[in-house]
Amino acid sequence: MMPLGHLGLPLMPFLGRRAYKVDPRLLMLGGILPDLIDKPLGHLVLTMNNGRIFAHTLLFAVVLLSAGIVFRKLLPLSLGVSFHHLFDNLYLEPRSTLWPLMGPFQASDFHFSSWLTAFTDPQVFGWELLGILVIMVYLVQKGIRTPRDLFCFAIKGSYPQKIVKGGSRGTDPKRH
Ligand SMILES: [Zn+2]
Repeated sequence: MMPLGHLGLPLMPFLGRRAYKVDPRLLMLGGILPDLIDKPLGHLVLTMNNGRIFAHTLLFAVVLLSAGIVFRKLLPLSLGVSFHHLFDNLYLEPRSTLWPLMGPFQASDFHFSSWLTAFTDPQVFGWELLGILVIMVYLVQKGIRTPRDLFCFAIKGSYPQKIVKGGSRGTDPKRH
């Protein structure tokens, strides 16, 4: 799966809910975090040219889950990472997933061009489309319509207040 799918699909269970305690920003960050760590590290820094390494392991998920149990605010991040692992079908790659139990990570012959051509795959394209649709529906449901709304949501986690009689819209950081 590609970035938009990873960002958007973890939000799906939360569409239409009026109130919940999960920070969607952390959920989305967790949804993309393994790629943010492993793609640059595996393809640019290390010599193995493998974009599914440390942050794509069960060990990483367990460490984050443990951190989330101790620091409750991190639980959405951990949940997002689990969604990422699920959507990447990591259960089909036990050697990477169960690292270091089955030996070191394997080198790959990945080329950046193959990442671009993956977008021409209807299945990949479909997941990306669904991801952006979920994000758009979420933003509309929460009343996020302007760049300012989006900025406040991204930075403070706040949503615009509903328009009240004769008043203007504002933001309420307590509403989630
Ligand atoms: Zn990934």
